[in-house]
Amino acid sequence: MRLLVVEDTAKMATLLQRAFREDGYAVDVQATGNEAVWMASECDFDAVILDIGLPDIDGFDVCRQLRERARWMPILMLTAREAVPDRVRGLDVGADDYLTKPFSIEELRARVRALVRRNPGERPAILAVGDLRLDPAARTVCRGTTAISLAAKEFAILEYFMRHPAQVISRARFLEHVWDFAGAGDSNVVDVYVRILRDKIDRPFGTQSIETIRGAGYRLRA
Ligand code: CA
Repeated sequence: MRLLVVEDTAKMATLLQRAFREDGYAVDVQATGNEAVWMASECDFDAVILDIGLPDIDGFDVCRQLRERARWMPILMLTAREAVPDRVRGLDVGADDYLTKPFSIEELRARVRALVRRNPGERPAILAVGDLRLDPAARTVCRGTTAISLAAKEFAILEYFMRHPAQVISRARFLEHVWDFAGAGDSNVVDVYVRILRDKIDRPFGTQSIETIRGAGYRLRA
Protein backbone atom coordinates (compact mmCIF):
# COMPACT_ATOMS: atom_id res chain seq x y z
CA MET A 1 0.00 0.00 0.00
CA ARG A 2 1.30 3.37 -0.99
CA LEU A 3 0.28 6.73 0.47
CA LEU A 4 0.83 10.29 -0.64
CA VAL A 5 1.04 12.88 2.14
CA VAL A 6 0.51 16.46 0.91
CA GLU A 7 1.61 18.82 3.66
CA ASP A 8 3.79 21.94 3.50
CA THR A 9 4.73 22.00 7.17
CA ALA A 10 7.91 19.93 7.20
CA LYS A 11 7.60 18.89 10.84
CA MET A 12 4.05 17.56 10.36
CA ALA A 13 4.96 15.87 7.08
CA THR A 14 7.85 14.05 8.73
CA LEU A 15 5.68 12.98 11.65
CA LEU A 16 3.02 11.54 9.30
CA GLN A 17 5.57 9.85 7.09
CA ARG A 18 7.20 8.18 10.10
CA ALA A 19 3.88 7.04 11.56
CA PHE A 20 2.60 5.53 8.32
CA ARG A 21 5.91 3.87 7.55
CA GLU A 22 5.71 2.22 10.96
CA ASP A 23 2.36 0.86 9.83
CA GLY A 24 4.01 -0.66 6.78
CA TYR A 25 2.96 1.80 4.07
CA ALA A 26 5.18 3.25 1.39
CA VAL A 27 4.85 7.01 1.93
CA ASP A 28 5.64 9.84 -0.49
CA VAL A 29 5.49 13.46 0.63
CA GLN A 30 4.75 16.55 -1.46
CA ALA A 31 4.79 20.10 -0.09
CA THR A 32 2.88 21.89 -2.85
CA GLY A 33 -0.48 21.34 -4.51
CA ASN A 34 0.82 21.33 -8.07
CA GLU A 35 3.49 18.74 -7.30
CA ALA A 36 0.87 16.64 -5.54
CA VAL A 37 -1.45 16.72 -8.58
CA TRP A 38 1.43 15.78 -10.84
CA MET A 39 2.62 12.93 -8.64
CA ALA A 40 -0.83 11.48 -7.94
CA SER A 41 -1.57 11.60 -11.68
CA GLU A 42 1.63 9.76 -12.55
CA CYS A 43 1.69 7.18 -9.75
CA ASP A 44 -0.90 4.82 -8.35
CA PHE A 45 -1.54 5.67 -4.69
CA ASP A 46 -3.87 3.71 -2.44
CA ALA A 47 -4.80 6.86 -0.53
CA VAL A 48 -3.91 10.55 -0.32
CA ILE A 49 -3.73 12.57 2.91
CA LEU A 50 -4.25 16.13 1.81
CA ASP A 51 -3.78 19.34 3.80
CA ILE A 52 -6.09 22.19 2.73
CA GLY A 53 -3.61 25.00 3.40
CA LEU A 54 -0.82 24.72 0.82
CA PRO A 55 1.50 27.42 -0.58
CA ASP A 56 0.23 27.36 -4.17
CA ILE A 57 -3.18 25.85 -4.99
CA ASP A 58 -5.20 24.69 -1.99
CA GLY A 59 -6.27 21.17 -1.08
CA PHE A 60 -9.77 21.66 -2.56
CA ASP A 61 -8.19 22.41 -5.93
CA VAL A 62 -5.86 19.42 -5.68
CA CYS A 63 -8.80 17.13 -4.96
CA ARG A 64 -10.94 18.57 -7.75
CA GLN A 65 -8.12 18.33 -10.30
CA LEU A 66 -7.42 14.71 -9.41
CA ARG A 67 -11.07 13.73 -9.81
CA GLU A 68 -11.21 15.61 -13.13
CA ARG A 69 -8.26 13.50 -14.25
CA ALA A 70 -10.21 10.39 -13.26
CA ARG A 71 -7.94 9.57 -10.30
CA TRP A 72 -10.29 7.81 -7.91
CA MET A 73 -8.05 6.87 -4.97
CA PRO A 74 -9.49 7.68 -1.52
CA ILE A 75 -8.63 11.19 -0.33
CA LEU A 76 -8.67 12.29 3.31
CA MET A 77 -8.52 16.05 3.83
CA LEU A 78 -6.94 17.76 6.81
CA THR A 79 -8.78 20.94 7.72
CA ALA A 80 -7.32 23.57 10.02
CA ARG A 81 -10.59 24.70 11.47
CA GLU A 82 -13.72 23.06 12.78
CA ALA A 83 -15.49 24.86 9.94
CA VAL A 84 -18.57 23.20 8.48
CA PRO A 85 -18.25 24.98 5.08
CA ASP A 86 -14.70 23.62 4.67
CA ARG A 87 -15.81 20.08 5.41
CA VAL A 88 -18.81 20.32 3.11
CA ARG A 89 -16.68 21.80 0.35
CA GLY A 90 -14.10 19.07 0.76
CA LEU A 91 -16.67 16.33 0.41
CA ASP A 92 -18.29 18.12 -2.54
CA VAL A 93 -15.05 18.31 -4.53
CA GLY A 94 -14.72 14.56 -4.13
CA ALA A 95 -12.90 13.91 -0.85
CA ASP A 96 -13.85 10.73 1.02
CA ASP A 97 -13.13 11.82 4.57
CA TYR A 98 -11.70 14.69 6.61
CA LEU A 99 -10.03 15.26 9.92
CA THR A 100 -9.79 18.53 11.84
CA LYS A 101 -6.44 19.76 13.14
CA PRO A 102 -5.25 19.13 15.77
CA PHE A 103 -6.00 15.43 15.40
CA SER A 104 -4.79 12.30 17.09
CA ILE A 105 -2.33 10.37 14.98
CA GLU A 106 -4.07 7.16 16.07
CA GLU A 107 -7.36 8.38 14.66
CA LEU A 108 -5.70 9.36 11.38
CA ARG A 109 -4.14 5.90 11.13
CA ALA A 110 -7.49 4.24 11.74
CA ARG A 111 -9.24 6.36 9.15
CA VAL A 112 -6.59 5.68 6.51
CA ARG A 113 -6.90 1.98 7.21
CA ALA A 114 -10.63 2.21 6.64
CA LEU A 115 -10.14 4.19 3.44
CA VAL A 116 -7.68 1.86 1.78
CA ARG A 117 -10.04 -1.03 2.42
CA ARG A 118 -12.59 0.57 0.16
CA ASN A 119 -12.69 -0.36 -3.45
CA PRO A 120 -11.88 2.71 -5.53
CA GLY A 121 -14.59 2.52 -8.16
CA GLU A 122 -15.60 5.47 -10.22
CA ARG A 123 -17.16 8.08 -7.99
CA PRO A 124 -16.99 11.35 -9.85
CA ALA A 125 -18.14 14.47 -7.99
CA ILE A 126 -19.21 16.04 -11.29
CA LEU A 127 -21.13 13.97 -13.82
CA ALA A 128 -20.08 14.21 -17.46
CA VAL A 129 -21.61 12.54 -20.52
CA GLY A 130 -20.18 13.78 -23.80
CA ASP A 131 -19.92 17.56 -23.44
CA LEU A 132 -22.81 17.63 -20.98
CA ARG A 133 -21.76 18.28 -17.39
CA LEU A 134 -23.84 18.26 -14.23
CA ASP A 135 -22.62 19.30 -10.80
CA PRO A 136 -24.95 17.83 -8.15
CA ALA A 137 -23.48 19.99 -5.36
CA ALA A 138 -23.60 23.33 -7.17
CA ARG A 139 -26.79 22.24 -8.99
CA THR A 140 -25.51 23.49 -12.32
CA VAL A 141 -25.70 22.02 -15.81
CA CYS A 142 -23.81 23.02 -18.91
CA ARG A 143 -23.25 21.77 -22.43
CA GLY A 144 -19.78 22.74 -23.52
CA THR A 145 -19.38 26.21 -22.09
CA THR A 146 -23.09 27.09 -22.20
CA ALA A 147 -24.91 27.06 -18.86
CA ILE A 148 -28.39 25.52 -18.96
CA SER A 149 -31.09 26.50 -16.51
CA LEU A 150 -33.24 23.58 -15.32
CA ALA A 151 -36.15 23.40 -12.89
CA ALA A 152 -35.80 21.00 -9.95
CA LYS A 153 -37.57 18.02 -11.53
CA GLU A 154 -35.83 18.48 -14.89
CA PHE A 155 -32.52 18.53 -13.05
CA ALA A 156 -33.41 15.34 -11.15
CA ILE A 157 -34.30 13.48 -14.34
CA LEU A 158 -31.13 14.58 -16.11
CA GLU A 159 -29.06 13.59 -13.06
CA TYR A 160 -30.66 10.14 -13.14
CA PHE A 161 -29.95 9.83 -16.86
CA MET A 162 -26.33 10.89 -16.32
CA ARG A 163 -25.79 8.42 -13.50
CA HIS A 164 -26.93 5.66 -15.86
CA PRO A 165 -25.59 6.60 -19.29
CA ALA A 166 -26.32 4.26 -22.21
CA GLN A 167 -28.93 2.38 -20.15
CA VAL A 168 -32.53 2.12 -21.22
CA ILE A 169 -34.56 3.62 -18.38
CA SER A 170 -38.26 2.84 -18.23
CA ARG A 171 -40.89 5.38 -17.32
CA ALA A 172 -41.65 3.30 -14.20
CA ARG A 173 -38.05 3.50 -13.09
CA PHE A 174 -38.05 7.26 -13.48
CA LEU A 175 -41.24 7.48 -11.45
CA GLU A 176 -39.67 5.34 -8.74
CA HIS A 177 -36.38 7.25 -8.51
CA VAL A 178 -37.28 10.82 -9.34
CA TRP A 179 -40.70 11.20 -7.80
CA ASP A 180 -41.64 10.56 -4.20
CA PHE A 181 -44.91 8.91 -3.25
CA ALA A 182 -46.72 12.20 -2.78
CA GLY A 183 -45.69 13.58 -6.15
CA ALA A 184 -46.00 10.45 -8.26
CA GLY A 185 -48.17 10.77 -11.34
CA ASP A 186 -48.82 8.53 -14.32
CA SER A 187 -46.12 7.72 -16.83
CA ASN A 188 -47.19 10.53 -19.17
CA VAL A 189 -45.54 12.96 -16.81
CA VAL A 190 -42.17 11.41 -17.64
CA ASP A 191 -42.76 12.02 -21.35
CA VAL A 192 -43.63 15.63 -20.63
CA TYR A 193 -40.40 16.19 -18.72
CA VAL A 194 -38.27 14.41 -21.30
CA ARG A 195 -39.74 16.69 -23.95
CA ILE A 196 -38.81 19.75 -21.86
CA LEU A 197 -35.31 18.39 -21.31
CA ARG A 198 -34.81 17.85 -25.03
CA ASP A 199 -35.85 21.44 -25.63
CA LYS A 200 -33.21 22.61 -23.18
CA ILE A 201 -30.22 20.28 -23.51
CA ASP A 202 -30.50 19.09 -27.13
CA ARG A 203 -32.46 21.27 -29.52
CA PRO A 204 -30.52 24.55 -29.00
CA PHE A 205 -27.28 22.63 -29.60
CA GLY A 206 -28.40 20.54 -32.57
CA THR A 207 -27.82 17.33 -30.60
CA GLN A 208 -30.05 14.30 -29.96
CA SER A 209 -28.62 12.84 -26.78
CA ILE A 210 -31.89 11.47 -25.37
CA GLU A 211 -33.19 8.55 -27.45
CA THR A 212 -36.70 7.14 -27.30
CA ILE A 213 -36.62 3.36 -27.12
CA ARG A 214 -40.03 2.26 -28.31
CA GLY A 215 -41.96 0.29 -25.71
CA ALA A 216 -39.09 0.46 -23.22
CA GLY A 217 -38.29 4.02 -22.20
CA TYR A 218 -35.47 6.44 -22.81
CA ARG A 219 -31.71 6.28 -23.11
CA LEU A 220 -29.02 8.93 -22.78
CA ARG A 221 -26.35 8.32 -25.40
CA ALA A 222 -22.96 7.79 -23.74
CA1 CA B 1 -0.48 23.53 5.54
